[in-house]
Amino acid sequence: MPPEQARPLLELRRLELAHDGIPAVRGIDLEVRSGEIVCLIGANGAGKSTTLSAIAGLLPCVSGEIHYAGARIDTLPAHRRVAAGIALVPEGRGIFGRLTVEENLRLGAWTCSDKAALAKDLGRICCLLPQLAGRLGQLAGTLSGGEQQMLAVGRALLSRPRLLLLDEPSMGLAPRVVEDIFTLIGKIAREGVALLLVEQNARLALELADRGYVMESGRIVLEGAGGELLRDPRVRAAYLGERAEG
Ligand code: ATP
Repeated sequence: MPPEQARPLLELRRLELAHDGIPAVRGIDLEVRSGEIVCLIGANGAGKSTTLSAIAGLLPCVSGEIHYAGARIDTLPAHRRVAAGIALVPEGRGIFGRLTVEENLRLGAWTCSDKAALAKDLGRICCLLPQLAGRLGQLAGTLSGGEQQMLAVGRALLSRPRLLLLDEPSMGLAPRVVEDIFTLIGKIAREGVALLLVEQNARLALELADRGYVMESGRIVLEGAGGELLRDPRVRAAYLGERAEG
């Protein structure tokens, strides 16, 4: 097996992160393999978004290492990480409301100078997101919250990621729309994109994910297969609103 396939696509080793000198992530180890859906759950302020920011290159590491596709990337600038296949869909989506849907999508393709390839990619995204296909000329600010989330995901996919980082994709959305978003995440994974998903909706995230990590106060306190974590009494008590047994 070539070394790149033998190793995880993404590996965080003893990663420490801080905001203005105040520790937010305290030495975590985490990995995502090619084609895997991995979720990161935990209470507000646990350090989940901070972790995604560091992987995307938006926050420098205090210490520790980030390895991606067989290379150490923790000193690479964010744009080089996008070019290498890491895309972040941030919390809040970052949609430009005064630009059209198509203009927003094209922003995701800034690494692509091949017009024919871009047209093909846009077609592929429209198949994946039929809700947006007929509305490419519409101002993005007039879309519903769910449609804006899909647009944010579509834009990230236009950079042709191998690893998609999704921060709270279900935030503020109605349950039926959340289902659509999770169906979309499953489809993206089946296309071979690895996903690291930060999600408040622990039940849905663990049902979908191959593996999960539970984060508390900047540390990983539990990890395992999605189904295994769903059955764990500590997870059930803390994140699924159920009483601890015994
Ligand atoms: P949430 O769901 O609330 O976003 P989270 O698990 O993603 O929770 P983070 O947003 O990563 O948590 O926050 C981790 C810690 O870092 C918290 O104590 C938070 O207050 C702090 N923090 C996050 N962003 C900043 C920032 N830009 N400046 C200063 N402190 C920050």
